[in-house]
Amino acid sequence: MKTQIKNPYALNQDTTLIHIGDSKKGEKYRCPECEYEVIPRKGNIRVPHFSHKADFDCDNESQLHKTCKLLIKHLVQNQKFNKFTKRSNINISRECSICNKNSMDSIPWDVDNARFEVKLTNNSIADIVLTKDKEIVAAVEIKVTHKVDEWKKESMPIPYVELEGEELISNPESWKPISHNLGSKTCRICKTDIDSFYRRSVRIANSLDMKLPKDYFRYAPSECWRCKKEIMIFDWPHKAYDQIKDSELIRKPKSVRKHGKEFVPKSNGLYMRVEKQWANFCLHCKSWQADWNKDSPLHWFQCGRDDVESFKRDMVIIALQRWEDCNWNTI
Ligand SMILES: [Zn+2]
Ligand SMILES: [Zn+2]
Ligand SMILES: [Zn+2]
Repeated sequence: MKTQIKNPYALNQDTTLIHIGDSKKGEKYRCPECEYEVIPRKGNIRVPHFSHKADFDCDNESQLHKTCKLLIKHLVQNQKFNKFTKRSNINISRECSICNKNSMDSIPWDVDNARFEVKLTNNSIADIVLTKDKEIVAAVEIKVTHKVDEWKKESMPIPYVELEGEELISNPESWKPISHNLGSKTCRICKTDIDSFYRRSVRIANSLDMKLPKDYFRYAPSECWRCKKEIMIFDWPHKAYDQIKDSELIRKPKSVRKHGKEFVPKSNGLYMRVEKQWANFCLHCKSWQADWNKDSPLHWFQCGRDDVESFKRDMVIIALQRWEDCNWNTI
């Protein structure tokens, strides 16, 4: 006899999947895989489970695989939704593309049923497909011994998650995918922080009759060191003594102005007066805002490259104050 998994699930007389915790004395239970009788074992020492009668040969892996499939179908058909948030009780762990932390969120699909062993358009067979009004929405693969093939993952024509069989059985409502193709995701904490940064920035910019830049000029809400009023301050890829490119000048915020004078010798021996740099300026009290001001939100900030990707990344760093990610060597 092979070693059997301690399966906490079995089918009751109505062929409904039952957890050992819900099993009743006197009821008959059957194995989800071979459908022969199994007995509830609820001792104090061992983990409660259903077991086959002695000397019964039922394949361990197939039993686990079949149980997981039935379990997912059962979960989807019996989904509960929070009255207010409308979130499903089935949660999935996702990594935040910003803070890299894992957090639980309800499954991202509106589904009401599941089907097994369905051929997809890439000719692969999905262990389970989740459906809404009979339409296929997503696939779930169960890993018992073999992971999903790389080619299958890459060619997967619909969203999928791959779940570990034993993990699913012990935590059915908290899916922790070992692979998926769901794309990137921002966790609720990062999203809340970024939203409040943008709301504050928009409010201040509006009060100063300014528009927030969509590229090149990084920005942050700040307080003028002198009049203490709320202002927006900016940083950009070229160091202060360089000129801002003509193409960027058009989009230059009106509070970024030429600052300082310098006398440069001309060929005729006379001196020419030129502006030294661009700097942040308080539109309220007309004072210059120094980059080295320790109270400035951009005090530790080192601007990234002159491209849109770099701009977006910098704005996340500024919004979340994650200075450790600053790109000190990109200039
Ligand atoms: Zn069996
Ligand atoms: Zn996050
Ligand atoms: Zn001021």
